[in-house]
Amino acid sequence: MKKIAVFCGSSLGFNDIYKNDAIKLGNHFIENNIGMVYGGGKIGMMGVLADTMLKKNGEVIGVIPGLLRHEEVAHTEITEMIVTKTMSKRKVKISKLVDGYIALPGGFGTLDEIFEALTLGQLGIESKPVGILNTNGFFNHLIKQLDVMVTEGYLKKSNKEMLIVSDSVDELCTLMLKYKAPIMTKVINKVVR
Ligand code: AMP
Repeated sequence: MKKIAVFCGSSLGFNDIYKNDAIKLGNHFIENNIGMVYGGGKIGMMGVLADTMLKKNGEVIGVIPGLLRHEEVAHTEITEMIVTKTMSKRKVKISKLVDGYIALPGGFGTLDEIFEALTLGQLGIESKPVGILNTNGFFNHLIKQLDVMVTEGYLKKSNKEMLIVSDSVDELCTLMLKYKAPIMTKVINKVVR
């Protein structure tokens, strides 16, 4: 994998355990020569991850909507900043640049982005690995909710299993490398996004 999109909080959270795993992931990318594509912010988990990689000359590409660019939140030191007209164009741009997606702890923005990536996989529009780093069991309740969706008949078990989960950076990245997308019964090839 050459480039991975990371979605994560624009806040740091209250427990250093999350920040420390963001640093671990940044170092893993450096050691494995993987570039990161992210939301372009300098704040919260996003800023920690970007700074970790930049300190070691890693490749950090930000994709930010014009709306956020002029706020104090945009990172000014990254390798490349791509500005999009809208939030939805930002997602399309990110998806074109990367070979996979990882979510770290975050809020609405993080969930929105990672579920969009899963939806692309579910529809067969993309076949890239989607993982969450379950530091400190942060996503346990979310995973339980997905189980409810399966038992209540709203989510196929095979689609739920597309989501790769680990609380270890190394294991998550190894699982992502091995990922093979399920064969879709109905493949949608020509969706224009
Ligand atoms: P949240 O999880 O709600 O903190 O939102 C974080 C996610 O949404 C990140 O992955 C970003 O792509 C995007 N995002 C939210 N706020 C900002 C911001 N101020 N600057 C850049 N991206 C942001």
